[in-house]
Amino acid sequence: MSNMNRQIVLARLPQGKLAPEDFKLIDSAMPRAGEGEALVRTRYISLDAANRAWMQGATYRDALGAGTVMSGRAVGEVIESRHLNFRTGDLAFGDCGWQEYAAVPGQSLMKQSHVRPLSHLLSVYGVSGLTGYFGVLEVGRPKPGETFVISAAAGAVGSFAGQIANITGCRVVGIAGGDEKCRWLTEELGYDAAVNYKSGPISETLKAACPNGIDVYFDNVGGETFEAALAQMNLMGRIACCGVVSTYDAAAQPTHGPHGVPFLFVVKRLTMRGFIVSDFFAKRDEALAQLRSWVEEGQLKVIEDIVEGFENLPDALIGLLHGKNWGKRMVKIG
Ligand code: NDP
Repeated sequence: MSNMNRQIVLARLPQGKLAPEDFKLIDSAMPRAGEGEALVRTRYISLDAANRAWMQGATYRDALGAGTVMSGRAVGEVIESRHLNFRTGDLAFGDCGWQEYAAVPGQSLMKQSHVRPLSHLLSVYGVSGLTGYFGVLEVGRPKPGETFVISAAAGAVGSFAGQIANITGCRVVGIAGGDEKCRWLTEELGYDAAVNYKSGPISETLKAACPNGIDVYFDNVGGETFEAALAQMNLMGRIACCGVVSTYDAAAQPTHGPHGVPFLFVVKRLTMRGFIVSDFFAKRDEALAQLRSWVEEGQLKVIEDIVEGFENLPDALIGLLHGKNWGKRMVKIG
């Protein structure tokens, strides 16, 4: 075992778009597990669009500050434990940060079962798969035959959510950046149609792809795409607000709101609900069992975008914010 720990620090809060200079790679002394902690050797670090939002201010978690190890969820192996629930050799998931070894309070870690490949613990059996599952089934609640539209459709959450809506018998329309991604959504993931939001006014291209309007809109991006979807919502439609990635790579979240929206909600009797995946963790085991059975039956494809090398974490996150990932992006360590 090495006696050094490579870490990536958020050197400064980004001024505008996230840049490599916002991060710094340092070598630190190897940590030890303190009382109540487990020492985890990180194996895969998850790249999430929300990593960037955490730099904008407090959300469902504290804001990130400059000069500290970059936060990030990871799956790793416990190599030393001073917490009753963990033993050497256990697999654990939690915010280990961008570092090779992390001493983490046991109560902040979730024990994981040994699955193959291990990367599935960050994709289909992790936050992305569960967000897709609960966002579709608990929030959007689509019925067979309805039109289900999803943005960031080729990303981690999006690729699972769209396929799950497909399994429920919806007509699924994905929105993604680029013709190649859109072709892949229909040819490989089984979406019924796909719209490239970069190819023309989204209000027109989305309308053309949804001749019967939209019953459920699963929103991952906010902004103009949200407004375009809202205009096409059917009576009694549901909007599942999962995230707003179009606003993350900027200094701060916009605080103003669209003025015409409330009346649309009244006239169309719409429901819009924001959610965080952990709201549904009481049903986590049930969800994981269902996801596993869909994967084993070949109904749910697990798309992973694995970048090799600890030092590539900053570029991998910046690339994700520019749409370079297909499916769940993560970095394999060691
Ligand atoms: P993804 O793997 O979906 O990657 C982000 C994708 O967003 C990119 O691939 C890119 O694809 C797209 N994108 C980037 N910029 C824009 C833009 N300006 N407009 C439209 N699309 C853009 O990331 P995640 O799966 O981590 O996150 C997806 C969403 O889910 C985020 O909003 C995130 O906050 C949310 N989330 C919410 C959770 C919850 O509990 N509520 C839990 C986990 C995630 P493209 O090429 O199509 O542009």
